[in-house]
Amino acid sequence: MLDQIRIVMVNTTHPGNIGGAARAMKNMGLKHLYLVDPLTDITEEARKRSSGAEDILESVTLCATLEEAISDCELVFGTSARSRTVPWPLITPRQCGDKAQQAVKAGNRIALVFGRERSGLTNEELHLCHAHIHIPTNEAFSSLNVAQAIQVLAYEMRIALTATNQVSENTWGVDWDQPLATHEQLNGMLQHMEQMLIDIGFLDPNTPKQLMTRLRRLFQRATPDRMEINILRGMMTMMQQKMASASNPVQQGTARQNMVLHEELLQDELLQNKHLNDIESPPAKDKESE
Ligand code: SAH
Repeated sequence: MLDQIRIVMVNTTHPGNIGGAARAMKNMGLKHLYLVDPLTDITEEARKRSSGAEDILESVTLCATLEEAISDCELVFGTSARSRTVPWPLITPRQCGDKAQQAVKAGNRIALVFGRERSGLTNEELHLCHAHIHIPTNEAFSSLNVAQAIQVLAYEMRIALTATNQVSENTWGVDWDQPLATHEQLNGMLQHMEQMLIDIGFLDPNTPKQLMTRLRRLFQRATPDRMEINILRGMMTMMQQKMASASNPVQQGTARQNMVLHEELLQDELLQNKHLNDIESPPAKDKESE
């Protein structure tokens, strides 16, 4: 189960911290270390600080962006030493262990994301995460060394995932009929939604404000499954199709593009589930009022 958890370090500067992280991970039985655009190589110092966890350093996955490191994960948790401007779901390492235990059982992959030594994670990076984890600390001195923060989270993962007699009442992500959407699938839906909101004039691309960030937070809080994502995309495609047939040739182009993109997806998952169509098709009177 610990195999489904990855540690992601963003723009790490000091090789000793990469080595320290590898050691902390191996102590707790975690294996997968992802480095997003590290600002150092894995040097002799990193190997020394790993104290025998060279196998983790050798199998590191290097990524150019955070998106790349998390794209196939269903759940992403970002860590932060301080509170940020737009409030986000905030949990403790122990609560994260509880969520991870349930989600991992259901076959989901989880990323725990750690920031730069000096400046942590950017707001944009934190917004890509379903929830934020703050390790409770002395408020006047809240910032841990990044490898030590990884140690705390790795420990909580081990305790939560290897305990044998745990009974959890909450079945979040466990007894579910559909797999949760991956980060990439959620992103695809949000991009589709953004385009649709521009098409209908609800979102002005020149002054987008925090609209897409707030919508992202809403959908990440709901942790939609793949079927739910496909339903939303199907709905949006239909709306775009209606708009395109009504008027503007520019909008027609966008709608058609999205339709082509999602035709296969919908045929696979929506149309084959005929019961869904039965339950969710609009009542006949809607048609009359058009
Ligand atoms: N000065 C930075 C702190 C960076 S510490 C800031 O104010 O944001 C480097 C990384 O260690 C953080 O990005 C986070 O991943 C982790 N970390 C440090 N202290 C933490 C804490 N109390 N809770 C959660 N993560 C923490």
